[in-house]
Amino acid sequence: MNEYILEPAINVEVMDRANVLVIGAGPAGCAAAIAAARAGAGRVILAERYNHLGGMATGGQVILIPSLSYKKTMMIKGIMLEALEKLSSIKNGFFGPSRDIMGSEKPSDVEHWKPYFNMTRNEHVCYGGYTDPEIFKIVLQQMIEDAGVIVYLHCWGCRAIGQGGIVHGVCFESKEGRKAILADTVIDCTGDGDIAASAGASFRHAYHDGLRNASLGLVYRLGIEDFQKFTDYTVVDREGWKLHNKKLNEISGFPIVLFPTGQSNVAWVDNWLLGYDCLNVKDLTTVEFRVRRTIFDVIEYVNNNKIPGLYPMTLYDTAYQTGTRGSRRILCNKELSIQDVYQGTSFDDVVAVLPSIEVITVKGGLDEIYPEKPTQIPLGALQVKNMKNLLVAGRCFSSDAQANNLINLIPHCFAMGQAAGVACAVAVRSGTEVSNVNYVEVREELLCQGVYLPDGEK
Ligand SMILES: Cc1cc2nc3c(=O)[nH]c(=O)nc-3n(C[C@H](O)[C@H](O)[C@H](O)COP(=O)(O)OP(=O)(O)OC[C@H]3O[C@@H](n4cnc5c(N)ncnc54)[C@H](O)[C@@H]3O)c2cc1C
Repeated sequence: MNEYILEPAINVEVMDRANVLVIGAGPAGCAAAIAAARAGAGRVILAERYNHLGGMATGGQVILIPSLSYKKTMMIKGIMLEALEKLSSIKNGFFGPSRDIMGSEKPSDVEHWKPYFNMTRNEHVCYGGYTDPEIFKIVLQQMIEDAGVIVYLHCWGCRAIGQGGIVHGVCFESKEGRKAILADTVIDCTGDGDIAASAGASFRHAYHDGLRNASLGLVYRLGIEDFQKFTDYTVVDREGWKLHNKKLNEISGFPIVLFPTGQSNVAWVDNWLLGYDCLNVKDLTTVEFRVRRTIFDVIEYVNNNKIPGLYPMTLYDTAYQTGTRGSRRILCNKELSIQDVYQGTSFDDVVAVLPSIEVITVKGGLDEIYPEKPTQIPLGALQVKNMKNLLVAGRCFSSDAQANNLINLIPHCFAMGQAAGVACAVAVRSGTEVSNVNYVEVREELLCQGVYLPDGEK
């Protein structure tokens, strides 16, 4: 039987007030805050529980940015593209095909990039790549500061304040104790939908075991000799590597895949652990411990077998944040379904267009079916049902489990965040509730911010 105590009521000090308050500074939250500030939303506050910006893309060490393009069309532009361009201009910040060969069908280009996951598609080169998470933190910070966003780190958003479909602000726990930030509009970018759920929004939280977003992970990086040498070896001795790879999965007790990073002598290890719930503290702890327990065994196996390119291997670092791929999906006015993804449904309130990508299943193979057409995200999938001034953006957006599996990756979350930030800014500027915001004005502002939308190219 569960035991309970009753906490005494306390006076909570108001620490600040915002026109737009964004909770969670991952890909969605950073994009939302920057977009809102640039669109003239007034006082934009971004609050984050940890000590850095970027969420999974930095602290979670998820460094693979899959394709932003389809053939010769750059579909995810705006803040995501801007961030990648900044990363590319910094030594070791970004590793991937250059923009000049985006859409190239030249066999030499395609063959060169084929071993790198999601860098080619249907015999053409895509625009995407691998980032350095530490450099990414700094790039995001520069963009946030340049936009004039006010940031509070080390603030854990624990409860929405509000009633009757209006969220007046959010209470935070920090070293200063419990304090509140009041706001005209709120965007929940916690990835887990913490704020929307505490405001009483309905949500789904069920996943199928075969899906990527049913799994957790704790990614880590390894010091190696040279990733290109390793890639060449896997091409030349495909069968030999297959056997080693199988053994490494057995040693770990869950699937692991090695990817390149911006540094030739560092490899990134992604992994997939099933049967855990990212909203359960015991499960989160178990995942952290289970993965760290295996790392030295992986290194020992590689070094004993002198695997070309990987040997001599050392531990470089482990991610600061547990990898949570799927969490609450908050119910909004519209819900993106897997049929919408497969059919490329057009929406009359489209705010983002996402090229299709390949996704790894938890069993280590590729999803057999993935869409050909781009996916449209409607504004309705970010407007929380029965809430007047609350949006969600990022992996907790309104979607069925399978759609969420394909459409919650870093570029997608940047694009959704930018749309949510712009929608809030337009609502604040025009004095309307964001649930009733004028779509035409949102679209105009998104186009001004360089976002790709259907029929939007001038
Ligand atoms: C192991 C792993 C591998 C992946 N591989 C890829 C890949 O190869 N390519 C790809 O594009 N995507 C990949 N993904 C998916 C992608 O990383 C995430 O879906 C994406 O980062 C989600 O962005 P987000 O902004 O919605 O949430 P997050 O990145 O989770 O950011 C949420 C932010 O909110 C903060 N936060 C949470 N709760 C609170 C709170 N209550 N108060 C204050 N702050 C809070 C968090 O600290 C975090 O900074 C992977 C994910 C994982 C876990």
